[in-house]
Amino acid sequence: MPLSSVFPRSLLVCIAALMVTVLLRAAGTTEVFFSPEGGCTDAIVREVRKASRSVHVQAFSFTSQPIARALTEASKRGVEVVVLFDQGIVQEPHAAMEILVKAGVPWFLDREHSIAHNKVMVIDDSVVVTGSFNFTTAAEHHNAENVLVIHDPDLAARFQANWKLHRAHSQSGVFPSLPAPSGRSSRRTRQP
Ligand SMILES: [Zn+2]
Repeated sequence: MPLSSVFPRSLLVCIAALMVTVLLRAAGTTEVFFSPEGGCTDAIVREVRKASRSVHVQAFSFTSQPIARALTEASKRGVEVVVLFDQGIVQEPHAAMEILVKAGVPWFLDREHSIAHNKVMVIDDSVVVTGSFNFTTAAEHHNAENVLVIHDPDLAARFQANWKLHRAHSQSGVFPSLPAPSGRSSRRTRQP
């Protein structure tokens, strides 16, 4: 006997929808965005605005003022925002950095690698933002990039653990009067 003859069709549809929702949540949901002009910056800003506890960032490059403002606003509402930068940040335009620095957002330089090339945000221990997309104006408007927004606490825990490794060997910096780039002459050539 078919189920539809026992239960109302609308009830079966509701049960099926509920099962799909449960399965998606169990597997984690993922969104993807592509540059240029594909909504990458907006997606990142949206996730940062939803943060309630923490936003842990590792950035290779950072010139996006919308993302800087979103991080600053999160920090001001009590979210723990901490940013790790590649040492090359000193060579970039200052406006986005100044937004963070003037707001007192904690930030550190990761000098342990030839390139600290991760572009990652771990939000509330449950969401990972990552991809080729640097947090920059160029990545949003000019480059071919991608960014994934992954809702998966298990994956977030792995990224969080990796972020903590980098946080442990990162150092406080002063901006813009940081050591000159020539101080890195003994390191391997930087190729993003
Ligand atoms: Zn590191």
